[in-house]
Amino acid sequence: MQIHDNSKHHQIEAIAEEIRKCQKCSLSKTRTNVVPGEGDAESSVVLIGEAPGYWEDRKGRPFVGAAGKVLDEVLEKIGLKRAEIFITNVLKCRPPGNRDPRSEEIRACTPFLDSQLGIIKPRFIVTLGRHSTAYLFSKMNLNFYSMRRVHGQIYEAKFADWESLVMPTFHPAAALYNVNLREDIINDLRLLRRKMRQLKE
Ligand code: URA
Repeated sequence: MQIHDNSKHHQIEAIAEEIRKCQKCSLSKTRTNVVPGEGDAESSVVLIGEAPGYWEDRKGRPFVGAAGKVLDEVLEKIGLKRAEIFITNVLKCRPPGNRDPRSEEIRACTPFLDSQLGIIKPRFIVTLGRHSTAYLFSKMNLNFYSMRRVHGQIYEAKFADWESLVMPTFHPAAALYNVNLREDIINDLRLLRRKMRQLKE
């Protein structure tokens, strides 16, 4: 007897399989590995970065390089474990030389992110840096001006059949050599943690 597993985990794995086969843009020609994302598909929290860098491309996992170390430190400070959340990126393949994502790449790749969000339906979305923030804002029909203006604020997002609270914060890579920015990220995420606790009460 075949058991049909429709769990979120199974659906997320099916998307990852599609991503592995993807050739929708030229990044498929230069990648070593795709980086679909990882974590708990049942989580109420999704973190969205920009795109894989060198180490992510080598290992096929998100945030495992220098920016990942900053992210791990921040998560530890606010008492969240990687295994409790889902982490992904706007682009699933590394842009050569870590250049900025191009609009045609974002257009080609974001249906995967949309599918991941539609499966997980997270109560909370954290956008890390301007690329993921600008993308989420475009979905929410909001204008995006700058990270300084929007970081640490909570935005209500209504999607087709679920709602999320979206909090933009700075990208961990920007905080690599900037302790103040690191503090900003920690403070932003502490606010989010407070909101999560309030909603649980
Ligand atoms: N930067 C990102 O935006 N994502 C990663 O996975 C790694 C570095």
